[in-house]
Amino acid sequence: MAPLSDESAQALAESHPCFSEAAREHHGRIHLAVAPQCNLGCRYCERWVGPASQGKAGPGTAERILSPREAADLVDATESSGWLRVVGVAGPGEPLANPATLESFRLIHDSHPSLLLCLSTNGLELQARLNALLEVGVQSVTVTINATDPETASQVYDWAQIDGTRIPAAACADAVLDRQWNGLAAAVNAGLLVKVNSVFIPDINERDLVEVARRAGSIGAHRHNIMPLIPRGRMRDKRAPKRSELTKAQDKCEKWIPQFRGCSQCRADVIEPPLCVQGGLSCCAHT
Ligand code: SF4
Ligand code: SF4
Repeated sequence: MAPLSDESAQALAESHPCFSEAAREHHGRIHLAVAPQCNLGCRYCERWVGPASQGKAGPGTAERILSPREAADLVDATESSGWLRVVGVAGPGEPLANPATLESFRLIHDSHPSLLLCLSTNGLELQARLNALLEVGVQSVTVTINATDPETASQVYDWAQIDGTRIPAAACADAVLDRQWNGLAAAVNAGLLVKVNSVFIPDINERDLVEVARRAGSIGAHRHNIMPLIPRGRMRDKRAPKRSELTKAQDKCEKWIPQFRGCSQCRADVIEPPLCVQGGLSCCAHT
C-alpha cells in the first residue's frame, strides 16, 4: 500500500471525531476495553478496572474487561443506534500486547465492514503487527510519542518490554523511540490515517514536543494531539500544564502538523454519541 492521498486523508479525517472537531457533530465513537496487559511503564499511568474505576475519568480506566465476543455484541447493540462511526481499542493497557484486540477487530469488521476501526498504541509493536492490523480492517492509528530525545524518554518511562524482556528505560530508551518512530512511518506508508498523541509533562518533555511535531509532520502523519498530563501514578506530584502553556505548545506545533484540539482524554470504555444526539436534537444524519 501507499500513503493516503491528501484528499483521502482529509475525507477520512472529516468523519473521525478524534481527527476533526467538526466530526463530533454527527459521528460517534466507542472504545472497547479488551486490552488489560501492557508492555511499557509510563510513569504517568495509573489504571483502574472494575469497581475502582467508578467516578474515574481518563485513559486506563474501564468498568470491566470485555472478551472479543462481548465487544462485538456491544458494537452490534450500539450500531443499531445509527450514529456509530468509529470503533477503537485504547486500553486500558496496550492494545497490541493483547491478542483480544485483533480478534475483536476481526469479529467487528466481518459484521460491520463500514465502521472505521481505530487503534491507539504506544508504538512498541506497531511495525511488527501492521500487516495483521491491515488484515482485520484497521484504517486509523494513534501512536503516543512523548519524546525525541532518549534522555527525555528515560524520564517519561520506567521500563519497556523489548522482545519479551523487561528492561529499565534508561537502558532501552533508544530502542523505545526507534520502535515508536519506525512504527509511525510504517503506518503512514501502509495507507493508514495516523495521529500522534503526546502527553505534555511540564519541565520534562516540553522541549521535545515541537520536535515530535516536526518529525511527525515530515513523516506524513495527519494530526498531532497534545494531551495535558493528568498527575497520576509515579507522576502524581507533577503538575498539569496550564491552559495557556498547552495553547502555546499547540500553536508552535501547528507549524509542522495540524493540531487536534478537541481531545476529551477518554476512558478505555467510553461510548460517546455525536453532539447532535447528545443534545437530543434531531439531525439529518440520524433521523
Ligand atoms: Fe499506561 Fe498506556 Fe503507558 Fe501502558 S502504554 S503504561 S497502558 S499509558
Ligand atoms: Fe479521541 Fe482524545 Fe478520546 Fe483518544 S482520548 S478517543 S484522541 S478524544
